[in-house]
Amino acid sequence: MTVKNGSCNNSNSDLPSDRQLTDECQPAAGSSKISNEDEVEAESDMMRSPVGSQDFEVVDDQLLMHEELNDDTCDNFKSIYTTLTHEKGLPSQNYMCRGCSSPIGTIYGKFKVCAFDSRYYCARCHSDDEAVVPAYVVNNWDFTPMKVSCAAKVFLVEMENEPMIDFDVINNNLYEYIAPLRLMYDKRKRLKYAANYLFACSEASANEVRSRLWPKDYVLTNLHLYSMQDLLQLQTGYLQSH
Ligand SMILES: [Zn+2]
Repeated sequence: MTVKNGSCNNSNSDLPSDRQLTDECQPAAGSSKISNEDEVEAESDMMRSPVGSQDFEVVDDQLLMHEELNDDTCDNFKSIYTTLTHEKGLPSQNYMCRGCSSPIGTIYGKFKVCAFDSRYYCARCHSDDEAVVPAYVVNNWDFTPMKVSCAAKVFLVEMENEPMIDFDVINNNLYEYIAPLRLMYDKRKRLKYAANYLFACSEASANEVRSRLWPKDYVLTNLHLYSMQDLLQLQTGYLQSH
């Protein structure tokens, strides 16, 4: 795995606040203008275009060629994990690739926009990998895979099983509009009630419950907590039947 060991450990304290989400929420990456419109328009179209698969893909060899994500990149990616980002234009990056600092734009060459962080990358650091972007899921229940940078792809694959999404903090309005999410909340409440009963019975019963739920035992401690893999399985109906 290319994510640096220890640098991307999940912590719920890293989840963005409501205020952070509200401040940074914009309609979508690609909605603002940047300097080289002709060049970025084609890239933005590619970034937004849906593809058939809605599951995370295994990191391919090309992706593994890229350097490890450093701590700053991991911290930054975690801070925007569920935030809808927006483009700020090439001047905000001094016409340099966000990944490797190579010159991009104007006479220097093509660039691509990452749907995860809305930053600009060179062709080496953005090879049109696709991923479901958490921010679009938790804000719009949109599971359309989008074009992301190589670093974002590595990060999102690494984080897909981590319980990073707390709907009680991020967007509990979705319970009102997304029936599967609401039903899963009711199911978790019943599960927690049953587990509490078993916990009171004996230590052996408690251990049995924990072992059956592991590694998703967080469903008992926080009814609103999900990983991206949970949400992908919820959207396909898999989670409801298991
Ligand atoms: Zn680059």
